[in-house]
Amino acid sequence: MSDVSPLSETLERKGLLPFAAPSYWLNLASEDYRTCRRDENGVPLDPILAQALPSAAELIDAPLESEDPLREKEHSPLPRLVHQYSSRLLIRVTGACPLYCRHCFRRNLLPSEREFISSKEILQAQGYLKEHPELREVLISGGDPLSVPTEILETLFARLREARPGIFLRLCTRAPVSLPERIDEALLSMLRKYKPLRLVIQANHPKELSGLFLEKIEKVLAAGIPVRSQTVLLKGVNDDTNTLETLFSGLCRAGVDPYYLFQGDLARGSSHFRVPLSRGLAMYEELRTRLSGLEMPRYAVDAPDGAGKLYLPESVVSRQEDEQGAYWLLRAPDGSLHRYPEEA
Ligand code: SF4
Repeated sequence: MSDVSPLSETLERKGLLPFAAPSYWLNLASEDYRTCRRDENGVPLDPILAQALPSAAELIDAPLESEDPLREKEHSPLPRLVHQYSSRLLIRVTGACPLYCRHCFRRNLLPSEREFISSKEILQAQGYLKEHPELREVLISGGDPLSVPTEILETLFARLREARPGIFLRLCTRAPVSLPERIDEALLSMLRKYKPLRLVIQANHPKELSGLFLEKIEKVLAAGIPVRSQTVLLKGVNDDTNTLETLFSGLCRAGVDPYYLFQGDLARGSSHFRVPLSRGLAMYEELRTRLSGLEMPRYAVDAPDGAGKLYLPESVVSRQEDEQGAYWLLRAPDGSLHRYPEEA
């Protein structure tokens, strides 16, 4: 066994994100996770392992980092519910995931939220939906909602639809890339009953688009469920235009619409993954010259002070410097200005 277990146990003792990765995921890597090469911060060089294996770099608290970088707690009317955008409600149905991604922006919230949503909480979500007619869409999120048994998910979906027939459901999951076997016939026949429904996955590297992934995506699409993807820009994983070009064109060929490329959030313990925004902007410009409109995702960042999603480069006002270093001034649609640091 490598040093994964002792570090994972230390992280777990501190209430931090432990190690969890299906063998399917570890087998996508080019190196054995027990003996893989690592950089000077202990982060694996392999892009698959870098997303999965804990490293001592996670114990670093960088300035401006937060346990809750999107300030979801401030928009949480009830446990598990986040109502940040007026038309959308997000439900965190569990903090469990088959793969604990080291870069996850909820990395500091997940360990304490591993239980599945309870019957009482499902009824609370239903009640909230009834009381808020402005809601048009419910995001089923987590953790990974596909960690939750299909029967519990179906109960939730049925209650939501009872409250608001036709409400749009968005299922946000990494399972198609982290544990494709979870996409089984029982799940597909359940999902088929709850259209309009969209699957939004996260894919960060072309190695994630395995034969099994492609097969499962084909089944989801054949069930009449459109699939979109989000990608997080990650240092050492996908921060070069060739990798991103291959990833986005591969997703598009698989029938998955590239939706967002996210600049890294300021989640505590994730500074080693963040790519300077100037570099991200330059890569995005380069991608525009290489990818078709269908292959091209939108580049965006979540404002570190909870002001929501800002598009890049559209929201950029200027790059400035003060005693804390260089930062970018970004303008939100309501005209408010927000700082995002150039370096981690
Ligand atoms: S699967 Fe999603 S919620 Fe879970 S650790 Fe990865 S990014 Fe975070």
